[in-house]
Amino acid sequence: MYKNISLSSKAQGLILVPIHSETTGKSPLWPKSARAHDGCQNAVRAGTFMAEAGATCTVGTTHMLVGLGPVEGFSTDRMRTVGAKVGRALDKISSSSIAIDNSASWGSDAAAKRAMGGAFAEGISLGTWRFDALDGTATKREARKAQLTLWADDAAVRDGFAHGLIIADGVNTARRIGATPPNIANPAWIAAESKKIARDGKMKVRVIDYAQARKLGMGGLTSVGQGSAIKPCIVVIEWTPRKISARNKSDHLVLVGKTVTYDTGGYSLKVNNGMKGMKYDKCGGAAVMGAMQTIAALKVPMRVTGILAVAENMVSNDSYRPDDIIKLHNGITVEVTNTDAEGRLVLADALSWACDTMKPSAIVDIATLTGGVGVALGHFCAGYFCNQPNLAKQVEDSATSTGELVWRLPLWPAHQEFMRSQHADILNSNPLRAAHPIQGAAFLSYFVKPEIPWAHLDIAAMATAESANEVTGGGPTGWGVRLLVDMVEQRS
Ligand SMILES: [Zn+2]
Repeated sequence: MYKNISLSSKAQGLILVPIHSETTGKSPLWPKSARAHDGCQNAVRAGTFMAEAGATCTVGTTHMLVGLGPVEGFSTDRMRTVGAKVGRALDKISSSSIAIDNSASWGSDAAAKRAMGGAFAEGISLGTWRFDALDGTATKREARKAQLTLWADDAAVRDGFAHGLIIADGVNTARRIGATPPNIANPAWIAAESKKIARDGKMKVRVIDYAQARKLGMGGLTSVGQGSAIKPCIVVIEWTPRKISARNKSDHLVLVGKTVTYDTGGYSLKVNNGMKGMKYDKCGGAAVMGAMQTIAALKVPMRVTGILAVAENMVSNDSYRPDDIIKLHNGITVEVTNTDAEGRLVLADALSWACDTMKPSAIVDIATLTGGVGVALGHFCAGYFCNQPNLAKQVEDSATSTGELVWRLPLWPAHQEFMRSQHADILNSNPLRAAHPIQGAAFLSYFVKPEIPWAHLDIAAMATAESANEVTGGGPTGWGVRLLVDMVEQRS
């Protein structure tokens, strides 16, 4: 497994020959390096290589044919999958450097070539990553130590490689944080990891601890986290570039991530087996951490702040309970009906605090908020909500260009009314199970100033994948890093 994947300084190593499935002996689709190469020609002529997307075939020791699938429907999404499969194939033969012949099929202009190069490099890096920090003595697989370098003759493709590798690093950071188990990844660990990311990216970081959060009136965050021995906190990571372009002077995007390091459900206990996998309840925050790492690495010329609402939802003598009425940062009182609807409580304080102190020009929050979003939309896309058309368009444009797809759900005054409580201002969850993902968004909307453009991404069904996911395989996907980074890049 590759420990490090980087751009090469020259053409060297195995020559990769990507071809579409329509490519025949004399086809103009043949890349230069393979036009007169008997081995490559023969493999295609003999029908031993059909060039399905991601299929590979080594020819001697010098060339590897790579299938791109049919010309029709060829896209960066497919290229990312191709990259992942090629990465796994290279890993099997312990290849350490590759030079890609993009002379035939990687797009007609520089922008297309850059995008294809980016998707390919993302695929290689995401497809060969694995979580091995906790491999013990019974694990026989080799430790990651190999290096892989990439080259392409075309400068735009190389530029895409460099960009794609930085993005994939951020996604893999989010995956590593997601995979880290709750006996290690508690709120203090998240704060420490955030400090490392901030230091590496030359970003400012600060932590609002439990005592300060109580003083600030963050009754949601502190109630959810009070049952844990490791107390909750808010982590703020700030990227301020040296050079801010004129058009970005007043722009300040704030990203808020739900970072529940473990969710037992609290006293509203989860059913048997419902708790397994709840370490992934921090994946919204992990996506923000990965995005901040990437934004700093890309030196994006605009201000971006990442805020993590970090808590562990545990059962103990000190835990909050159903029927508790608590007051949140903006003074709104909340009747707790369900201690398992905790994500919205920690996020609400972070959102309200961000609105008050950060002067955001837009806020995007990302959270594994409701199981209901998976019931509504499956694992095909995230559900999202937005209070402003321009921001909604940005979310959708970035979803399309990164392949991290979203579908907008409604948020109406009737939904907000549905959250009203008899003895407090609002409920954290309406006992009627109707419209659960919308209830989450409706609750959060009470904590965002209406004049601030705000989008809420519910990624509960996207943060992890069954093994069916061709790019990342099973486990944490790092979903949202690519989307958030693309939004920032498009704005800047
Ligand atoms: Zn929960």
